[in-house]
Amino acid sequence: MKVINLKSDLFPVLQKERSKGRKIGLVPTMGALHNGHLSLVNASIKEADTTVCSIFINPTQFNNQEDFENYPETFEEDLNKLKQEGCDIVYVPPREDLYENENDRITDFSFGEFGRVLEGKYRPGHFGGVALVVSKLFNIISPDLTYFGQKDLQQFHLIRHLIEDLSYNIQIRCVPTVREKDGLALSSRNLRIPEELRPLASTFYKCLITGRDMLKNGQSISDVKNKVKEVFANSPDLKLEYFEIIDTGNFKIIKQIRNENKTSLCIAGYLNNIRLIDNVNYI
Ligand code: AMP
Repeated sequence: MKVINLKSDLFPVLQKERSKGRKIGLVPTMGALHNGHLSLVNASIKEADTTVCSIFINPTQFNNQEDFENYPETFEEDLNKLKQEGCDIVYVPPREDLYENENDRITDFSFGEFGRVLEGKYRPGHFGGVALVVSKLFNIISPDLTYFGQKDLQQFHLIRHLIEDLSYNIQIRCVPTVREKDGLALSSRNLRIPEELRPLASTFYKCLITGRDMLKNGQSISDVKNKVKEVFANSPDLKLEYFEIIDTGNFKIIKQIRNENKTSLCIAGYLNNIRLIDNVNYI
């Protein structure tokens, strides 16, 4: 496995791969890798010929400085995991390799209504930062395929749109969420959950499952929302930011389910000061 820091060193390596007709798969991450990330890497290994995993804690996508400063770093373990999984290339740029002229930057993204709901609403600037760094990675690496997790459903759809809107010649894949036994979605931020609060963390997933069951049993969306609000209100360590049922096609919040195949339940909130998100499809 090659570990490469500079894009100038990455270019010739990728050019050589491409000249052999090899398809390149890209898995962008912010490190602190867990089995969720590794399932993306694995999906790429299975489908692409050369798998590149990038590790970069992207400063422009953090709307909260404290979250950025506390973001876990487990670099040596990350490399071991990637090597074991069979990743070919790890790109770990220093900040200057991606943001050389950050003070001069004038480019900004806007995503219309899509950028004003759910994560877009509660994390202003976040998607702009994600789109910026992912565009940079796409331009540097020119992958044929790229892999994103369903765990960050809105992010997946953002990148799907970005690829279409900017005519990137890249195929995107959505990889199912990997969970702990109690349902908690794996996340790098889980490393910050104190042990005594860990059992509460599965509340997010449980609310999604209970909510989905209630809907399937004919209860209304507003009944379900009230139930979830009640669960969160009963625990001082939990704070609900949103629980919404959306049309996965356009990310509009819905009040009635019309197309079951295109319906997802999304939740976000805080366990103490740790922000967690999750979602499940209706079907
Ligand atoms: P991050 O390092 O948090 O930016 O995540 C990098 C990629 O891993 C994103 O595409 C995430 O959606 C994906 N990912 C994070 N957690 C999981 C999980 N539990 N299961 C599957 N994919 C995940």
